[in-house]
Amino acid sequence: MKVEISDKKETFTLIPETIGEYGDLCRLSSLVRPDENLIYAGRRGPIPEEYLENIPGLKEKNVKPCDSMTLRFKFDNDFIFEITDEIVKNNEGVDFIRNIAWSTHKIIFLGVVNLKGNIEANFTAGYCKICNNLTVDPAAILFMCDECVQKCVHEYEFSWKRSDDFKRLILVERCDKCGRINPDFDADNIYSSEEQARILEGLLNISVKSYADLPDLITDLKKGKE
Ligand SMILES: [Zn+2]
Ligand SMILES: [Zn+2]
Repeated sequence: MKVEISDKKETFTLIPETIGEYGDLCRLSSLVRPDENLIYAGRRGPIPEEYLENIPGLKEKNVKPCDSMTLRFKFDNDFIFEITDEIVKNNEGVDFIRNIAWSTHKIIFLGVVNLKGNIEANFTAGYCKICNNLTVDPAAILFMCDECVQKCVHEYEFSWKRSDDFKRLILVERCDKCGRINPDFDADNIYSSEEQARILEGLLNISVKSYADLPDLITDLKKGKE
């Protein structure tokens, strides 16, 4: 399935690449009315090689690498619509939809357009919490869209995020109102490693003996979520 994201990041479009995918979208449009929610029902695959290397615990669980990801969606509790793609080929598309589904637990079907023998199905993630504009950005649904963020008088508080390689927890400042991270805050410039560990300890309500323990802490957090 080919995924295209609109320039203004308001909607995304699925374009079938096989007869089977064409049939899936026809079935979807015959069963689901525009503006209905498709509820995220989890994914099959993928674990690319680099995730296996970087997420603690996956190797030990014998998780195998896999090149394609299938996202599954429920409608009326039983109908399951699936979006499958190779992550290597279409990383932006399928991973992008997975981020929406993971954050908001659903996607919204907007309708199918017929185009000279082919079809395209349009979706969105939801509406900005403040201005109500369509958006595919989970941060806009949970907090506010980029346009509304421009008008936000930020109130930053300590928060955390994972480093891109999943190996560290990073101390950040995040605005309580718009949910965005303070780009000017650099914890390493202000606090020692031990001070950062103490702050993260307080934030996450767990015990961190030293900064070197943080990678284990990520594993513990993942366990807690399962
Ligand atoms: Zn907005
Ligand atoms: Zn803000």
